[in-house]
Amino acid sequence: MRILQSFRNILSERHDIARSWKNQNKPVIGWNSTYTPEEIIHAMDALPVRILGSTKPTMLADAYLPRNACSFARSTFDLALRSSYAYLDGFVTSNSCDNFNKTYDLWRHCTKIPYFHFINTPHTNTQKAHDFFHQEITRFKESLEETFKTTITNKKIQHSIQLCNENRDLLKKIYDLRKRDTPLINGTETLEIVLSSMLTSKSEHNTLLKQLLKEIETRIDPPKPGVRLLITGSMMGTPDLLNIIESVGGIAVADDLCTGTRYFWTLVQTDKNPIKAISKRYLNKIPSPSRYNWEERVSHIKNMIKQFNVEAVINFLLKFCDTHMFDAPLLTEELKNQGIHVLNVEWEHTRSGIAPIKNRIEAFIETIKGVP
Ligand code: SF4
Repeated sequence: MRILQSFRNILSERHDIARSWKNQNKPVIGWNSTYTPEEIIHAMDALPVRILGSTKPTMLADAYLPRNACSFARSTFDLALRSSYAYLDGFVTSNSCDNFNKTYDLWRHCTKIPYFHFINTPHTNTQKAHDFFHQEITRFKESLEETFKTTITNKKIQHSIQLCNENRDLLKKIYDLRKRDTPLINGTETLEIVLSSMLTSKSEHNTLLKQLLKEIETRIDPPKPGVRLLITGSMMGTPDLLNIIESVGGIAVADDLCTGTRYFWTLVQTDKNPIKAISKRYLNKIPSPSRYNWEERVSHIKNMIKQFNVEAVINFLLKFCDTHMFDAPLLTEELKNQGIHVLNVEWEHTRSGIAPIKNRIEAFIETIKGVP
């Protein structure tokens, strides 16, 4: 389908898209944690761009980071050192994990990006945590206003919420296509679509999504059916692993990834105070394993398994990703107790050792096929 190529193009041309935005005198703000409210950045007519890393060797970052820094954070810092993100007007992060926190300091120290901001995100979602987070989002808005000499009005934020919610609704419709016995779209294509939504303007992305939804029902090249899998685990900034799964008899029909449902599943509810609505949404969204409310995440995974008729789960754990590694034994036990087969796979963002990983995935899929 030709329209799918448009989403792939956004991924491959992400830096050109950001530069063209800048050429129109509009700021580009990089972010890397799903606890960053894109709506606020968008409301000042800036482009929020997710920092996704690459699969290339990380020789420059290796000089700064210890061996036990995760290869995703290492890769993004390497790109920063290579000036791939030199066009950024700002970089925003949040306290997701130690690797993010430490590399944030290195970005500050080693790059010339003019604006940095750190959002303190509570690890719980109690009322006190909500009150605190509301203040943090307000502080973020005010800091953008002061730095970029602009006013972010409630009206602009409301409009931005509406665009982002529309994007979330459309992405959910794409996910619905995978609930069918023969999914109309596979996991590789879906991940490309979700990733591209983090790299271009929401209005442009919404237009592409609407066109895709119009055309896909008459698709003449549907994906091959296979063992229906839910994918969870660490940051997945490229579709390579899903491509492997789908080349050896599986099909990724659902996920619990911070580049998947954890990014877009929860909508911002309407509230007279849009900052309050945004802060509520981000603190109540499907939590990452770095948060205290683990049960909410597991319940989301179980719901996805049911809704998408999932046969087994693959948990892709990036080496040294403590947050997901600590979570993996509990999650595995919980799912196995429900009769769900789980494969935990350790991997590196640079794809070293990918051949044995492919063998393990293939063997796992063969096993599931043999289960009566
Ligand atoms: S992959 Fe894991 S350790 Fe690395 S930045 Fe993401 S959450 Fe942190």
